[in-house]
This record gives sequence, C-alpha cells and structure tokens, in this order.
Amino acid sequence: MLGGLGARGAEQVALMAVDNYADNLESAVRYALLTTRATAVCPFHPDVIIRIGDGSAETHACIRARNIIRSDGTRWTREALMEEMARQLADAADGECPPCARSRESHA
Ligand SMILES: [Zn+2]
Repeated sequence: MLGGLGARGAEQVALMAVDNYADNLESAVRYALLTTRATAVCPFHPDVIIRIGDGSAETHACIRARNIIRSDGTRWTREALMEEMARQLADAADGECPPCARSRESHA
C-alpha cells in the first residue's frame, strides 16, 4: 500500500513541479512520456526517470505530445518533439532505477 501511494505521489510532484509545461519543450515531452506510462519516476528516487520499454506507450506519448497546445495556441513541431523525446528516452534508466538495482544487489 505504501509503495503504491509513493509511486503516485512522486509522479504528481514531477508533474506539478512544472507550471506551464506546454510552453517548455522538455516539460511537454516529459509530461507526455509520464502520463502515457512510457516512462515512470522511481518512487524512491524522484530524480530518476525510468524508461518502461513499452513501444505502444511511446507511440501514445508521441501522439499526446503533438496534441499539447501552447499558451499562444500553437503546437510543437513533430521534428522538435521527436528529437526531444529521443533524447529523454536515451537519458532515462532502462527498465529499472539504477540506485534501486544497486541497493538490491548490496542487500542480496
Ligand atoms: Zn530508485
């Protein structure tokens, strides 16, 4: 129960920390990836973004990002979104949080 609450709490913090996410390319892409579950924030390390590795979730994230409307009424270009999404997915930890994986190994 605690773990579930923690995961949701961390995600909310990550989303709410961004005020006008739509007007910032990095934030818009992060929002699209998190809300489609293409990526997740580690419940124990809120600064660690984990790439789930779900291809259909990543496709949904692209679609969601392209539908984000900025405060001036325009949208991000497909090229800009694809580039930033590729960058964030490359930066994300693959499948599991590295600090969590390390602490599991050291306690094994
Ligand atoms: Zn972690």
